[in-house]
This record gives sequence, structure tokens and C-alpha cells, in this order.
Amino acid sequence: MVDIRYINHSSFELKNGENSVLIDPWVDKNKDYNWKEAPITDIILTHAHGDHLGNAVEIAKEKDITITAVAELAAYLSKQGVKTKSVGLGAWLNYSWGRVVLLPAFHSSSLPDGTYGGVAASLLFDMDGVRIFHAGDTCLTGEMKTIRELYAPQIAILPIGGNYTMDVEHAAMAAKWLGVRTVIPMHYGSFPEIEADLQKFAQLVAMGNTNCQIFDTSSINGAVQKEKSSKKK
Ligand SMILES: [Zn+2]
Repeated sequence: MVDIRYINHSSFELKNGENSVLIDPWVDKNKDYNWKEAPITDIILTHAHGDHLGNAVEIAKEKDITITAVAELAAYLSKQGVKTKSVGLGAWLNYSWGRVVLLPAFHSSSLPDGTYGGVAASLLFDMDGVRIFHAGDTCLTGEMKTIRELYAPQIAILPIGGNYTMDVEHAAMAAKWLGVRTVIPMHYGSFPEIEADLQKFAQLVAMGNTNCQIFDTSSINGAVQKEKSSKKK
């Protein structure tokens, strides 16, 4: 049984039994999220930008857990005294909670000192038979059709805020191309440049993928639980 917890922005905790993986932990904006008590066994980063690296170093050190990231970002984290798993795109990686493969994201990635942070990644999880795609920061890409063919994800977590990533129109197209049954929007509303019209997103998704349900995180910003407030056609 996989439990998906929305924390903030692009940060999610995926829990499988007693183990959980924390994605892009920019978590200090959510005062209700107590990571010290969460059963986090791993952290995975999509890329190095501050709104994704977030509190990763602090959490990994305090809980003595490993951060998985692409090689350049992992090398930076090692210098900060963190245990790392240095990886690239394209192969299943196995963990106590399941497995994940890093896939292409079309986005930049720079370290806090401004240097190159390696390629940006999307994440495809396989946990308890559930396939969950976390797109990271990316534009719409034809890779999503390939991801459907290769992995057939059931759930997609997609950025919709525009400006730095897909907007609602392209994210709705991504939901169609990925063929998912559930979409969870992310990376919107956190700052002025990435405001998004969630209703429009729901309409566009319904037009392109009639079997897809939207799981709206806007109503649970600041809370650590799942909630349904979505429209399905
Ligand atoms: Zn971002």
C-alpha cells in the first residue's frame, strides 16, 4: 500500500509500509510537516535548484540517510558531509520501499554556488505494483509517450505553474500522453511567477484524458495528508 503525501511545492513523501522516500524536500515552508518524526529512509532529488534541494542536507545529516542524485549533484552533497548514491539516468535502482528510475527532464540544474549541477531528472517509481511518475521540473516532451510505453504509470505528479516548467495546457497534454488515471499538480502558487488556474487545468485534462482524475493539492497546502477535491468527467 503506497501512501502519497504532498508536503510543499514539488516535495512529496511516498510511504510503503514502514519505509518512505522523500522527494525534493523543500519542506520548511510547511510548518505542519515534522520530518524528524517521519519514517524517511531515503531522499531523492530531481535537480539542484534551491526549491528542490531545499532542506535535503539538514535532513540527511540529522537522520543519517542517503541522498540519491545525479553524479554532479551527489558530488556536491558529499562535500557537504552527506551520504550519497551517485547515479545517472536510465536504470532501475532498488530500495527498501521499492524501486525508481531517473528519466530525462528538460530543465537546467545549478548548484548553490552557481556551478553546473548535472542533468535534471524526472522520477518513475515502482512501489507495491503502483507506478508513479514525478516529472521534476520540465517542459512537455515527447519522452512522455515513451515513458507510457515503457512503464505505463498510473499516477503522474506534474508541474503546472509555467514560467520555469510546463503550464496547465502542456501539463494536461502530458497527462494525456502518459495515459495516467490520476494527476497530482505541483510546482505552482509558491511564488508569483508560477500562479496557475487549477480549474482550467481540470477542464483541459478532462478533455484530453477522460479517465483521469485530478488530485488537487491546493486545498491541502500546509497539511500532510491526502485529500480529494477534484473534478472528474
Ligand atoms: Zn523548481
